[in-house]
Amino acid sequence: MSHTFRFSHPEPTPVRTRVWPVFLPFAGCPYRCVFCAQDKQTGQDEADLESTLHALEADLDEALALGRGPYELAYFGGTFTALPPPWPETFLALAMRYRERGLITHVRCSTRPDCVDELSLSRLRAQGLDMVELGVQSFDDTALKSSGRGYTGDVARAACEIVKASGLALGVQLLPGLPGDRPGMFASDVRIAADLEPETARLYPCLVIKGTLMARMWARGEYEPWTLERAKSELAEALPVLWGKSVRVIRLGLAPEGTLEGNIAAGPWHPAFGQSVRGMALLEILRVEINRFGGCGTHLDVPRRYSGELYGHGRELASLYFDLGLSESSISFVDGDCFELKSTPR
Ligand code: SF4
Repeated sequence: MSHTFRFSHPEPTPVRTRVWPVFLPFAGCPYRCVFCAQDKQTGQDEADLESTLHALEADLDEALALGRGPYELAYFGGTFTALPPPWPETFLALAMRYRERGLITHVRCSTRPDCVDELSLSRLRAQGLDMVELGVQSFDDTALKSSGRGYTGDVARAACEIVKASGLALGVQLLPGLPGDRPGMFASDVRIAADLEPETARLYPCLVIKGTLMARMWARGEYEPWTLERAKSELAEALPVLWGKSVRVIRLGLAPEGTLEGNIAAGPWHPAFGQSVRGMALLEILRVEINRFGGCGTHLDVPRRYSGELYGHGRELASLYFDLGLSESSISFVDGDCFELKSTPR
């Protein structure tokens, strides 16, 4: 007798917004971290705040005149909460002026865990800030020390709580494969991050980017980045942990923006990294569901929105579905949100 069962993907519903990124490379940073190359990632040199502000204002005016938007304004690439006064307030006041005219709906910024306190975050919230993305990188004291981050795991944890206590939405960024890494460390960081229940997470496996201190460490044999295969498999295992706590994972691996690609000296980077990782996570979810019902799948309906990731990048996972008893002709893409497996028990 055949069985039919339905299940849904554990990923929380994505929030579709148009993000308007404003890059402030290294602005407010107390020093340059060993791995960081915001200039290469953004294709911009160190931020000149005055000219960034004027260019942003002109671009927002143009967008308004053309009837574009609405947008979520995101101040990225530096340490926003440590910008010299009155720059945080000035950037938020600009956002507020366009919020009042309907062009901007939401404002977020990125910063370091050791540059937040409840009083100043509450003030920034009153001035229109909605979300803080913390560059936690790791909660592990050894990795934080080996990477010269200048704070401990406890400080990173407390910073996450401070953001939430200030009434702001929290985003967490993790950087697996830092100097000082050891087996199981990233999985532990992911569990800690998930338990803190941020709204979003970004997972950026550590890359060796030319011109950074880390590139010199790597050239001297003092640092070895993760392989691409390890990065894919560890991140694929991390996704269900974060999804299980309703954390939206909004980025997997650095985007090929600016001059990044030509400046990667070593490390786990691939233009389709996210697609591979999501595909591997989905395969594991399906494997668990098939095993849970003790059957050999004979037909699988897959919501159409997962068609781009089911087989991974370049169909790298296609043969593994065959091993699960699912040939290509037994998989259909359908409208709706539910997976449906028709199976014949073994
Ligand atoms: S990692 Fe963050 S704090 Fe460090 S230099 Fe880069 S932007 Fe600044």
